[in-house]
This record gives sequence, structure tokens and C-alpha cells, in this order.
Amino acid sequence: MSQRYNCDVMVTGSNGLLGHALRRNIDGDIAFVTRDDADLTSFEQTAELFSNLKPKRVIHLAAEVAGIGGNNIHSGEYFRDNVLINMNVLECSRIFAVQKLISFMSTCIFPVNAQYPLNEKELHIGPPHESNFGYAYAKRMLEVQASAYRKEWGCNFISAIPTNMYGPHDYWNLDEGHVLPSLIHKCYLAQAENRELTVWGTGAPLREFVYVDDIANLVKWMLDEYSDPSPLILSSGVEISIRELVGLVAAAMGYDREIRWDASKPDGQMRKPSDVTKLRSLRGDFEFLSVYEGIRKTVEWFKHHYPHVRM
Ligand code: GDP
Repeated sequence: MSQRYNCDVMVTGSNGLLGHALRRNIDGDIAFVTRDDADLTSFEQTAELFSNLKPKRVIHLAAEVAGIGGNNIHSGEYFRDNVLINMNVLECSRIFAVQKLISFMSTCIFPVNAQYPLNEKELHIGPPHESNFGYAYAKRMLEVQASAYRKEWGCNFISAIPTNMYGPHDYWNLDEGHVLPSLIHKCYLAQAENRELTVWGTGAPLREFVYVDDIANLVKWMLDEYSDPSPLILSSGVEISIRELVGLVAAAMGYDREIRWDASKPDGQMRKPSDVTKLRSLRGDFEFLSVYEGIRKTVEWFKHHYPHVRM
């Protein structure tokens, strides 16, 4: 990436789940940047990237991220790397006069004792769940940094808080992935090897799942139309239990053997329903793909691409 030009949009972390969905859903003068272009934990490399591309707008997706397994193990690493990445990307966006930046948190970083449904205003009112406090505090600092930069330098930095996203090009690691990609992979192996599927936890926790192309479309809209200083939760607001989720994955995979629940593995937080009032007031017209249909599409994609998937 030696060429210097003034691209309209630069997308960091574009090799991930949402990055690929953006590649499918937006077009124009867009630079899709990956780890191969710059190590964003290094200020020098980040500054060189900005100096080369001179982006007008930035969609900042790059992060070290994992499911409950990975977050538990890598709390220090995820805290350090995410703080460095966000510091460098937002600071360079300020220095290189980026006109608008959108960055991403997640509903999993909310206070463990927050009132339900989770509301944008309650992000900082208490500590996050112990299973992901390193990641969560680092991500919360994104919002703090954006607000501070807006206050002192007038930077138009906004943030989104998507719920659990899933879809093609996810990270399918069996131990450290998020629940849906890990489950799809586990179910695929159980089916292929004709053995029992073992699932973590009790199946009781509830989560919201959104097909990643829906988030990509909302991000496109936010980039053009949303400049509110406070973050926006992106979710359908529809909860399903892990037990129901496993049923949908098994049905999409055609798996009909026993399912064993391994209660020695963590359940994590019981629920984290999100308040979608603000999103609904702005985008009452937006329709989310059903989890049933989204899982069916995702399982098809996985079966077609396995073993050439990130895992
Ligand atoms: P969380 O939503 O931030 O808690 O993280 P995950 O996306 O990793 O989802 C965790 C929930 O799914 C917990 O209730 C786990 O017990 C349950 N779960 C069931 N099977 C799996 C699995 O194979 N991987 C993961 N990560 N979670 C699983």
C-alpha cells in the first residue's frame, strides 16, 4: 500500500466478520485495510497508513476479540492491544483531519449490574462481567476517547454497539470463537464423525443474534446520516436461548443425534437484552433477517467453505 491518495473511506480490520460484510454491501472509493497493511498497535505504522491513504472517513473495526473462552484466557493481551489500537487509530484520525470516524463496541461490555434492557446511557455505570473485563474496559475507552476528542477538538467520532453478529467469514475456532461460529463448527464435526455433539454450559442463557449483513447496512447508514455524540445500539432486540440456538444449528446442519450439555463450562451472563428504542426511533423501517434464515445461510456458507475458513 505505497500509493498516496485521498480515499473516501478506510475500513480497518477488514478481514473480519463485519469487514467482509461491508465488502459485500458497500461500494465506492474504499480502502479495505488488514493486518498485512499495518500493525495498528504501533503508532508509527498507523501514522504511515493514514499518511498514505489520507482517508476522509474511517470505519474502525480492528480489534482483538474472542468468545467467552478466549476472553477469559487473554484478558491482559486484549486489554493492551485494544487500548493501543484504538488510541492510535483515533489519534491519527485527529491528526490527519478525518471528517468522520465510526468505531465499534459490543453489548458484552455493559456493566454486569446494568438494568435491563441495556441502554446506551448505562455503558459506564459499573464494572463489566468478570469473564471479559480486559476486553470490555479497553472497548469502553473508545467511547471515552471519542467524547474527549469531540469536546476538545470537535472531532466527529461516533460509535455503534452491535449485539452478537454472525455470518460468513466468522472466526470458527472451537475453543475461543463466539458461541454461534464455534457451535456450527462443532456440530459440523459431530455430524461428519458420526458422534455426539457436546455444548458448553446449561443452554439457559439468552442472547440476541444479528446477521452481519444487517449490521453492515446499518453502518453504511450511520456513516452517512448519524452524527449523534452518544453511541447507538444495533440489534433486533429479539432474544433466544442458547438451547434454542443449538436446535436451529442442528436443524440447519441436519444433525439429529443426542446433544450433551457440559455444565462445567461457563454460562457467562444470563441475559443482556438491549434497548432498541433509539434505533427504532431512527430506523423504524429497518427489518432484520430472522435468526432461522440467517443460521441457515451461515451453515450453508460454512459447509461450502470448510476447511478453508478462519479457525
Ligand atoms: P458472550 O455472549 O460474550 O457470553 O460470549 P459467547 O458468544 O462466547 O457466548 C457464550 C454463551 O454460549 C455461554 O452461555 C456459553 O455457555 C454458550 N456456549 C455454548 N457452546 C459454546 C461454544 O462452543 N463456544 C462458546 N463461546 N460459547 C458456547
